[in-house]
Formats: sequence, structure tokens, C-alpha cells
Amino acid sequence: MDSSPYDVVIVGAGFGGIGAAIQLKRLGYHNVVILEREADLGGTWHINRYPGLAVDIPSTTYSYWFEPNPYWSRLFAPGPELKRYADHVADKYDVRRYMRFNTTVASALWDEDAQLWQVALAGGETLATRFLITATGFLSQPHTPDIPGIETFDGKVIHTTAWDDSYDFRGRRVAVIGTGATAVQLVPELAKQVADLTVYQRTAIHVVPKIDFAIPVWLQHVFARVPLVHRAFRLVTDTVFELMIVTGVLHYRRFRRLNIAAADLAKINRFVSVRDKELRRKLTPDYDFGCKRPTWSNSYYRTFTKPHVHLETGSIERIETDGIVTADGRKTVIDTLVLATGFDLWEANFPAIEIVGREGRNLGKWWRENRFQAYQGVSIPYFPNYLSLASPYGFSGLSFFNTMEYQMRHMDRLFSEVKRRGATTFEVTEEANARFLDRMTELLDDSVFYRGDCATSRSYYFNPSGEAALLRPTSTRNAVREGSTFPLSDYAIA
Ligand code: NAP
Repeated sequence: MDSSPYDVVIVGAGFGGIGAAIQLKRLGYHNVVILEREADLGGTWHINRYPGLAVDIPSTTYSYWFEPNPYWSRLFAPGPELKRYADHVADKYDVRRYMRFNTTVASALWDEDAQLWQVALAGGETLATRFLITATGFLSQPHTPDIPGIETFDGKVIHTTAWDDSYDFRGRRVAVIGTGATAVQLVPELAKQVADLTVYQRTAIHVVPKIDFAIPVWLQHVFARVPLVHRAFRLVTDTVFELMIVTGVLHYRRFRRLNIAAADLAKINRFVSVRDKELRRKLTPDYDFGCKRPTWSNSYYRTFTKPHVHLETGSIERIETDGIVTADGRKTVIDTLVLATGFDLWEANFPAIEIVGREGRNLGKWWRENRFQAYQGVSIPYFPNYLSLASPYGFSGLSFFNTMEYQMRHMDRLFSEVKRRGATTFEVTEEANARFLDRMTELLDDSVFYRGDCATSRSYYFNPSGEAALLRPTSTRNAVREGSTFPLSDYAIA
């Protein structure tokens, strides 16, 4: 051990880590450090800088409940505004001073004798702490596909999470691999710059029309001066998005028609954007709406009708020094390869670092051998004094800030009780954890994931065993209420 123990080590300085630090500060913990592998705060919104980046939840809904931002420039604000919002919150609540950047955590080990976590950093240093909180995000480990020959490509390779702002795309022959939410935003913007663009689609995606508009400055001032008006506006966006996930996705069994209506919206979007029947067919998904995260765009489908943009649905066989060869032997010559291939969620992120709890229990191994699970999306038996904010069944609703809200309330209730009792440790009981997992499993049975047709969706909502163990299958209201009311007896507090 290289230093005296911290009260709390938080891993990650994105919105999760910032929210956790704010809550702990309110609770009176000031001996806190936030370890961040990047050079700046903001997580997703620091890393992602690709053209077209914007929030894909209305901005009024995509913000902390306790810190509304009246100044969003659009309903779906562009990425840099989100980064500025993260900076603003970190400064206003004075948690930036806890942050230690360019610091990669290798592992965390529970030291039973000392009743402390020993957090090992990549450089060899070890930090001891009473409490450990990992706020490593759900989509933070970029996925680079293992396509034969990819390392031999002579041109420029750019992953969307490592955008090269200095690279000039004008006049380039570009390939984009991937057609997820990132590609839906990026492809229309890239098409404006490049000479030739081929998009490699393995699985088509439902894209519904995007109702987006600039929020006029006068309205921003009204939001700032009359918070009630801002709250009312937020209530509308919150309700629409919550209804979408609760009815169309989680209660698919009862509200199947609504799910079909959403898929129809995407169909209409294709119909008005693309006249070519064959192209429309190729862009049409063969799985239900909601199996994958829904996306919005008024320009994505239309982009494929431009003469210099091509949709390639043949599977990629290999990459050569100057192009991509599909299984039918056709080669497309390119000079730039853009990987919009998303993230390793289950393999690399659950957990994002090695975590070893009581009696040598290794979290990653245990999850894989015993199903992915976490009580109330935050705690796991045999891992005392540890909260994992990016956990199975942890994500509530569509906005990350719903997740943050219930998790902050959970922290409030739990840490307040630990303080009240003058206790040293907390650990969720095996019984409470099993009860929660059973309940989540049962509730999920109504969802589109099990009642609908998701077989061909290749959705990251499913883990490698085929369980849809990412989303919490309850309303946000339920998650938030339970964050403040879960039985304290669900924890052993000593
Ligand atoms: P993604 O949804 O996981 O999409 C990755 C894409 O890459 C998929 O189309 C996938 O095809 C394809 N792919 C991966 N490996 C491949 C391979 N070996 N060969 C061919 N294709 C391959 O990732 P994403 O688009 O980055 O989006 C991830 C999530 O980030 C979104 O769902 C959303 O939650 C979030 N996001 C948010 C915003 C925002 O708020 N602004 C913006 C972008 C993303 P398959 O489908 O066939 O696997």
C-alpha cells in the first residue's frame, strides 16, 4: 500500500462517477478519489467526437434530475454540449478536484484483514479504500472486429471512439463497418465529405423519424427563469420515452400493437426516403422493434440513395492492403476504413476491471459461472463495501440519468444507514440478491426480448448465454422508488 486509505475510490469520471461523487460529498465523504483512464472527464462525451454526434434521447430528459440545463440548443443536443454540461456539473458541485486523470485501474482486491479494498493501478501503485464504486459505463470498451487481414490494411483506420479530427476526408474512398446508432449519426455526415462511401451492414436497423428542432434562445431564457415551465417540458419528453420502453419493450406481451406501430414508423421512414424497392428491402430489419436500441434519423436512409453511397450487405471475408473483399469475391478499393463497430459490453465490460471480493470470489468469473446479476443493479454478495454502477439489470429506461437517479438514491439510503450505525462494512445478502434476480427474470418474460422475435438482431441487450440481462425490466418510477425504500435488512451492515 502506497498511501493512507481513502474513504471512497470511484473508477470513472463520466456522468456515473460525477453523480456518485456528488452524492458521497453530500453524505459527508470528502476523502474521495476518482480514477479516470482518459485525460479529461465526461466519459462517453469526452471520448466520442465523430461528425454527427448528438444525444439520442431528448436533452431535457438526458440530464441529472437535480441539475436541469435550460440552455440546450436543440431537442437532441449535439455531443459537445453534453461534454460542456459534464464540465459544468463537475465544477458547480466541486468534484473535479477529486479526479486523477490518465490513471488506469488494473484490479481491486478485498482485503479481509484490513477491511479495505486494495486498488491496483496499471503503473504499479496500490490505493487502499474503505468503499469502492465502479462507474465504468455500459459502453466504454471499444470493439475492434477480428476480421482477417484487418492489420494489413495500408490506409487510415479510425474507430468512432477515437476520431482523428485532423484527418481530411475530402476526396477519400471510405468504408464504414457497422450500422448501429453511431453509424446512423455518422454516415449522413461522412457522405457529405467523401468521394465514395461503402457501408457494410451485417444487421439492418430500425430507424424512426427524428422530431428535432432548435430551442430558441427566448425559450431557453424562459426555462432558466421559470423552472416550472422547464419541468413541464421535461415531463413530456420523460413520459414519451418512458412509455416507449415500458409499453413497447418491457410489456410487449400486452402492448404488441404499440411495438408494431413503432416498427411501422421506421417502415414509413424507409418508404419516404428510398424509392428503390431492392435497397429498401436490404435496409429492412427482420427482427422486432426494440430488440436493439431504437435509433432516430431523417437522413440516414436517404443517404443511401446518393450516387456515391453504397450499401453492402455481403459478408466481409477479408481485408487486404487496399480494400475489402466480400464472401462472393467482390473487392471494394478504399483508402479509409471507419469502424463503427460499437463496444464489447459483456466480454470486456462486466466487469471492466478485475474485482476480487471475499473468499477470493472473482466477479467476472462468478458472473459467467452463475448468471449475470446484481441486487438493484448495484451490489453483489461477497463484495462488501462495493457498488457497481454498470451492472446487469442496472440500466433503467432509455436515459442513463434515470439509472443515475435511482443509484444515487440507493447510495443515499445505504451510506446514511452505515453512518447512522457507525458500521464498517455493508454487503448485500445472498437471499436478497436471489430474490431480486428471480423477480427480474420473471418480469423480463413479458418483454420483447422473450415474447418477440429477436433471434437475428445480434443485440447487445443479450448476453452470450442469450439472457437479456442488461435492462431493468421495471418502470423508472419503480427503480427510483426502490432506490429510496429498499429494505435495509437486504444488507448485512456491520
Ligand atoms: P452497436 O450498436 O453495437 O453497433 C455496432 C455495429 O457494428 C453493428 O451494426 C454491428 O453489426 C457492426 N459490427 C460489429 N462487428 C462487426 C463485424 N465483425 N462485421 C460486421 N459488422 C460488425 O454500436 P454503436 O453504433 O456504437 O452504438 C452503441 C450504443 O451507443 C447505441 O446503442 C446507443 O445506446 C449508444 N449511442 C448513443 C449515441 C448518442 O446518444 N448520441 C450515439 C451513438 C451511440 P451487428 O448488428 O450485426 O452485430
